[in-house]
Amino acid sequence: MKKTISLMLALLLAVTAAVPAFSAAADDSFGAYEHVFIIGVDGAGAAFEKVDSPNFDRIFADNAYIHNAKTEYITTSAQNWGSILLGVDYETHAMTNDSTEKNPRTSADEYHSIFYYARKAMPDATLVSINHWPNINYGIIENDINVKKINRFTDTLVVDEIIHNITVGKVPELMFVQLDSVDHAAHTYGGFSDEYYAAVAEMDVYLGKIYDAIDSKGLMKNSLFIVVADHGETTNGHGGQTVEESSAVLAVAGKTVNKGLINENAHNRDVSAIALYALGIEQPDVFISSVPEGLFGQAREKTVAENPISTQDKLLDMLLFPFIRGFNLIMPAFSWIYDAYYRAGIFAVFK
Ligand SMILES: [Zn+2]
Repeated sequence: MKKTISLMLALLLAVTAAVPAFSAAADDSFGAYEHVFIIGVDGAGAAFEKVDSPNFDRIFADNAYIHNAKTEYITTSAQNWGSILLGVDYETHAMTNDSTEKNPRTSADEYHSIFYYARKAMPDATLVSINHWPNINYGIIENDINVKKINRFTDTLVVDEIIHNITVGKVPELMFVQLDSVDHAAHTYGGFSDEYYAAVAEMDVYLGKIYDAIDSKGLMKNSLFIVVADHGETTNGHGGQTVEESSAVLAVAGKTVNKGLINENAHNRDVSAIALYALGIEQPDVFISSVPEGLFGQAREKTVAENPISTQDKLLDMLLFPFIRGFNLIMPAFSWIYDAYYRAGIFAVFK
C-alpha cells in the first residue's frame, strides 16, 4: 500500500512538474522589453508597507507587487542576492558572504548569473551593475563577461551613478543595482528602529528619482522596472527564519505587467526568471525560479502619478548634484583604496 501511495505521489509530482509555471493565458511579454532595471534594496524586507512610501505607491499602483515574497531559507545577503541573480536556491549556488568576498566569480563557475545569459544572447549589450556592497560585483556576477561594474561606498553616490548610467550614453539592456543604507541602519540601530524606517523612507525617494530618470527618457515604453529585497531584519540582525527576516518586497512595473498583487508563492529569486523572460532569453534548465503566475498580460497604457517630491527638495538636489557628480568622477581613482580596505575586512561589520 505504501508503495502504491508513493507511486501515485510520484506520478502526481511528475504531472505537476510538467505544467508550465506560467499559464498559457494571453501574454505578450516574452522579449517585449529592451531594458530591465533591477533595483535591489538590501534589508528592506516588507518595510515599504510600513512607511510612508509615496513613490513606491505611485509606481506600482497600476502594476504588480508583493511585500512578502519568499526569501532563501538562510536570510543572509549573499545567499539571497546569489539566488536573485543566479535563479537557483542557495543550497545549489552555495555562496556565502564570506565566499563572495574571497572568490572572484567567473564564467567557469558551475552556475551562472542572468548577466552571463544576457551576454550570451546579446553579445553587444550594455550590461551594468552598480553596488554599495562590493561582494556582488566581485563574487556573484562573473568578472569575465564584460559587465560594467561600479562600487560606491554611499547610496547617494550609487544613485548618482545609476542616474548617470541611465541618462548619459547607451541605455543598458540590463542593469542591476544594490543599495545598502537600509540594511546598514538595521545593523546599527535595529530592524524595528525609527532610523531603520527612516532609511526605508529615504529609499522611497531614491526609487522615485531612478524611476523618473528612466521614464523621463521615454524608456518605460520598453523597460521593466523591478524592486526587490534580499531579506528583512529583526532587532538583532538577520539570517534566521522569522517572518520579518524571510519576507522580501518584489515589485514589477512595465507595459505588460498586470495590475494587482503578485502570486503569494513568489520568491525574490524569481527576479532572475522575470528579467530573462522580459528580454526574450530562454530560461536555463537549472533555474528553479519562475515568472510568477499572472504577473504578465497584454500591453496597455499605464497610469503613474507625478513624483510628490517638494520644490524645496528639488532645489536642494539641483544644488548638490554637481558636487556628487564631481565626487563620482574622481572616485575611480580612489576605488582601489576602498577595495583594499574592504578586502582587509574593515567594512565586513556592515553585513
Ligand atoms: Zn542583505
